[in-house]
Amino acid sequence: MPKRVYDAIVIGAGHNGLCLAAYLQRAGLSTLVVERRHEEGGGVNTEEPVLAGFRHNLHAQYMEFFDIMPMIADFGLEDLGLRTVMPDAQAGIVFPDDRPPIVLHRPGLLERTHASIARYSTADADRYVAMKERAASLEAFLAAGLYSLPVAQGIDVQGELLESMFADLGVSANFGYKSPRAVIDELFETPELRALLYRASVEWGAPVDEAGLGAMFVTFIMWTMGNWKLALGGTHTLAKAMTQACYREGVDLLENTSVESILVEDGRAVGVRARGVEYRAERVVASNADLRQTMLDMVGRDHLSDTWVRRSEAFRYGPSHVLGTTAWCLRDAPAYRAASIDPDIDRCFYTVVGFDGADDVLRYIRDAYSGRLPETAAAGTWVNSLWDRSQAPPGHHSATGWFFLPKASDLTAAEWEDVRATLNDRLLASWQKVAPNMTRDNVLADRLYTPDQMERKNLMREGDFSNGEFSFDQVGVNRPFPEASNYRTEIDALYLCGPSAYPGGGVHAACGYNAYKAIAEDLQLASPVQTERGY
Ligand SMILES: Cc1cc2nc3c(=O)[nH]c(=O)nc-3n(C[C@H](O)[C@H](O)[C@H](O)COP(=O)(O)OP(=O)(O)OC[C@H]3O[C@@H](n4cnc5c(N)ncnc54)[C@H](O)[C@@H]3O)c2cc1C
Repeated sequence: MPKRVYDAIVIGAGHNGLCLAAYLQRAGLSTLVVERRHEEGGGVNTEEPVLAGFRHNLHAQYMEFFDIMPMIADFGLEDLGLRTVMPDAQAGIVFPDDRPPIVLHRPGLLERTHASIARYSTADADRYVAMKERAASLEAFLAAGLYSLPVAQGIDVQGELLESMFADLGVSANFGYKSPRAVIDELFETPELRALLYRASVEWGAPVDEAGLGAMFVTFIMWTMGNWKLALGGTHTLAKAMTQACYREGVDLLENTSVESILVEDGRAVGVRARGVEYRAERVVASNADLRQTMLDMVGRDHLSDTWVRRSEAFRYGPSHVLGTTAWCLRDAPAYRAASIDPDIDRCFYTVVGFDGADDVLRYIRDAYSGRLPETAAAGTWVNSLWDRSQAPPGHHSATGWFFLPKASDLTAAEWEDVRATLNDRLLASWQKVAPNMTRDNVLADRLYTPDQMERKNLMREGDFSNGEFSFDQVGVNRPFPEASNYRTEIDALYLCGPSAYPGGGVHAACGYNAYKAIAEDLQLASPVQTERGY
């Protein structure tokens, strides 16, 4: 039975909310987490949404931050059930003709990546591998940046870093001003490699045509490419382990309870109202919900200055980071024709299917970003049961994939219904061209989960999993807007701890960890920084 008075209340049991709650409780603050859904995890979710026994991660699939995420070590999440595998072949793309696939491997196997790209261009293979190695050497630096409050960093500073690290590979300081597409096109001549890299860029929410995100591509995206782990049992095991860590610390968790409002007295947050009950927080209220819900709906305009109302209203959601998840229950895993050239493609963690080449990927992305349903039925796909037999019944496989789609409000309810009824069939036709065994007979059942449904299920506004577009004015110290960039708000004792804040979406728990750092500074709590890791 939850108490009515706590030191701290966290709204939302997404992985960021759970992370913040665990650190707060460990620092001695009695903490309550209030979650509207029947289970914890938010976007860190695994279900059996199509047929019993076939598991699908409906949102987050690949886990790239587990080696650097502080909470995993600080709270012993591996002892609480978090286990992973890292497939050798990490990312691939196949084409509907006899062109070779491109397969990128995990760090340590870059000679195989080199051989794959060199089928097209030795120069591209040399450059990709060298860039990947340099980006990997930035890991400690990038991790420290991720798990710290954002600092203003001029594009010129980024330029100096780019030039000092990558100049001999053709990267100059002005790459920071370029769009990811301009960077990719200048560095790599092979359209097939460009196609895969465009796709990787947008998956990280870096729109390919957005000027000013070039440094993000060269450093951050090149570092994360191919560093992907699969959570055994499904991504939800992370949320489960975090929840157990919270319980072990003594956090109270109240599920099935939506917070209706944040109580504000004399400019200070003092608790929340949920299902008509008031829960008081004597020191901290933090919100894992998105910016607009937190400030405009839960705090309310009457408690906010004009600036905060305007800035919250102006914060943009989508079109980047808006995905549809396609889930398939299969007899056999896809067997690609291109495996006759490179067998690794059949055991690739993430395989992009349905595109003819680079121009097709660009057209697709531009359509989705313009609010149009892309003409090409193409997706990035996973068959997690290849590595984890718990994810499908014996002798069967579960495949999951992502479409980039228009944002939720771009289509009507009837139009989304139509997309759900037709897009998977169109994808299957594309899939069959590259994997002949992907016939209807090989499919027991399938289902498409669209951005309007993600909005309803998780309150991910517009289906935007980053709770706010990644554009130059909404990243870094500008996220969500300059006055709110350090997790604090203009309401005393109220903090943001979700991806509307820096660094944005992704399963890194950095929003929760950094929010704790800000709170620890304000309340003089123990710092979570460990000298050996440096952050
Ligand atoms: C299709 C898709 C694919 C993705 N793939 C990846 C991937 O492969 N790798 C990766 O790193 N990231 C991926 N992501 C992104 C990642 O899942 C999210 O960025 C991340 O889960 C956000 O975590 P969070 O804890 O901040 O917020 P959320 O997961 O959104 O959790 C917020 C929680 O707050 C609750 N809440 C909201 N309002 C209230 C209220 N009023 N009262 C009580 N509770 C409330 C919600 O119910 C929810 O549980 C993907 C996302 C999607 C949608």
